[in-house]
Amino acid sequence: MSRAYNFCAGPATLPESVLRQARDEMLDWRGTGMSVMEMSHRSDEFVQIAETAEKDLRELAGVSDDYAVLFMQGGASSQFSTIPLNLLGDKGSADYVNTGIWSKKAIAEASRYGQVNVVASSEDSGFTTIPDQAAWKTSAEAAYLHYTPNETIGGLEFDFVPDSPNVPLVADMSSNMLSRPVDVSRFGLIYAGAQKNIGPSGLVVVIIRKDLLGKARKETPTMMNYQVIADNDSMYNTPATYSWYLAGLVFKWLKEQGGVQAMGEINLRKARKLYDFIDNSDFYANPIDPRFRSWMNVPFTLADDALNSEFLRGANACGLLNLAGHRSVGGMRASIYNAMPEAGVDALIDYMTDFAKERG
Ligand code: PMP
Repeated sequence: MSRAYNFCAGPATLPESVLRQARDEMLDWRGTGMSVMEMSHRSDEFVQIAETAEKDLRELAGVSDDYAVLFMQGGASSQFSTIPLNLLGDKGSADYVNTGIWSKKAIAEASRYGQVNVVASSEDSGFTTIPDQAAWKTSAEAAYLHYTPNETIGGLEFDFVPDSPNVPLVADMSSNMLSRPVDVSRFGLIYAGAQKNIGPSGLVVVIIRKDLLGKARKETPTMMNYQVIADNDSMYNTPATYSWYLAGLVFKWLKEQGGVQAMGEINLRKARKLYDFIDNSDFYANPIDPRFRSWMNVPFTLADDALNSEFLRGANACGLLNLAGHRSVGGMRASIYNAMPEAGVDALIDYMTDFAKERG
């Protein structure tokens, strides 16, 4: 059996060694006679799996005891409403930066709960750049400042953490969590849907500064109340146990690779290779301001859109899968998360070279 290179934006490719370990442990997890999927979430065994995953994540991301780590459900999308419900408090307004489709979704959802001030937007440029922070119209009265460090669809990524000394900074790191070092202490809250860099879908990781707990609006559903989830070690109800277990295996794998520092160096090398190739070609193009090109999601177009389906068919035949761009933007997109080996990027470049030679 040979594994393809899967460039899907999410659910995304997982490290092969993690899948092998999960396979080996499937029928009988360490002599328990059952798979992790079948275990009570209250059992000593699962609690150990859950605690180890949290400990490894804290170590990898450098999360101090000032923060709670929550393993929630509902994907990153449910955080779009969970965040305002918990953090707006009596302030009534929050600041949002609009850099693409995921920012817009977060803005639309938050607008249902309070006043949203869009303090900066790169929509005029077609979301090809990040507005200079000096021009952001932030307010000291805002309950928090929300931004999307990596726009998965646009392939636009911040290369800096916004300064927000007085207002908690909230970041949707769904598509770049653990891809390079980040100073968690700069943030009030970080959240990430798991299905890109962490594990399978069904899980969303939330890292929240503890002083932001306990501020949820009265009408906040219990399952969305960060304080309740924190008080119950993310087991107020039955958590997504299997996803949590697999996330734990991914964290172990990441530690074996040298952690996020080493991973960041590999990711930069992979991304540079692909962008350099695109920039040096007359046949492929990427529209993003080079400073803000995503290390994780690389959108590109062909010289002639009419060749798109032939490009994808040929790629599939070579085991290079899921290269079609998001349905809302078209073109191509190669998602090259942590688990995409450098050899996958090399294979993609080889295929793109041959295709351009034949069709260019
Ligand atoms: N935010 C970002 C940046 C994303 O890429 C995605 C999913 N692609 C989401 C939010 C939504 O995640 P979910 O499907 O887990 O709700």
